[in-house]
Amino acid sequence: MPLSLTRRSVLAAGVGLPFLRITGAQATPAPAYRVGAFTVTPLRDGLFPLQPSMIPFADSAAGRALLERAGLPPEGPSPEPVNAFLIRRGGRHWLLDAGCGTVFGPGFDRVTAALAAEGVGPDQIDTVWLTHLHADHVGGLLTSEGRARYDRAELVVQEREAAFWSDEGARARAPAAMAVFFDTAQAVLAAYAGRVRRVSGGADLAPGVAFLPLPGHTPGHAGVLIEDGSERLLIWGDIFHSRLLQMPHPDWNVIWDADPAEAIATRRRILDRAAGEGLDVAGMHLAGRGRILRDGAGYIWEVRDRAGSDGAYR
Ligand SMILES: [Zn+2]
Repeated sequence: MPLSLTRRSVLAAGVGLPFLRITGAQATPAPAYRVGAFTVTPLRDGLFPLQPSMIPFADSAAGRALLERAGLPPEGPSPEPVNAFLIRRGGRHWLLDAGCGTVFGPGFDRVTAALAAEGVGPDQIDTVWLTHLHADHVGGLLTSEGRARYDRAELVVQEREAAFWSDEGARARAPAAMAVFFDTAQAVLAAYAGRVRRVSGGADLAPGVAFLPLPGHTPGHAGVLIEDGSERLLIWGDIFHSRLLQMPHPDWNVIWDADPAEAIATRRRILDRAAGEGLDVAGMHLAGRGRILRDGAGYIWEVRDRAGSDGAYR
């Protein structure tokens, strides 16, 4: 499963560097989404300036036109959120992903402050569900000293995901710029050794909550489907890094996709399902909660709830 990155594309995109130039909203209590008896609160870790070069097909006249029409500079960037989610029901607290932590420098690491604004301390989190092990999703599980930040928490991750990032062969084959992703994933697995639960496929995470495998971005990339009565919410990880650029063009890959062809097939499949079922959707790099509508060869976003979208392109 070759990584789509080449050293040149990574350097051209300035991977890493853009994360240092961040402006973002301060952590404030976020309005929550209700899903039956679940309360789902988006936690803003920070904003990252998405450059069109991170989605190479968007580094084009078509990409510039989309940015310009949205009132953004035609050369980018588009401010995109990095989210985690707090999910509550009946006195239980679950965390879905954990943000960047300090991995990408200042401007991030606001998830614990956002939790505190909700009156939730790290020791109240007993389980963290992980969409995948990229650093912008798991860096926040570590303190700046590299220790486990959530003392009581068990991590739940797809077996394929944990295996991939633990594979020294995969690491050796990956471009040098991917080292930070392997380092962070391995540091997290080590810091939480003995309390990492590896599951497969559509495993149940809690009553009414199940993993939904969405492979391609990474081998074990997954979303979480929350369901209570007639209400449902799908929270995906990295189906989009820019809904502005990728929703009309589902075939526009991001440079971090481990298997671009599989990522495209997965994106098309889940968009088609979400549109067909009228699913409510939220995501780690998606502002607010909305629905997906078909629009020619692409899709459009119908925002239902702007909670947690401040500062980001929406
Ligand atoms: Zn991500």
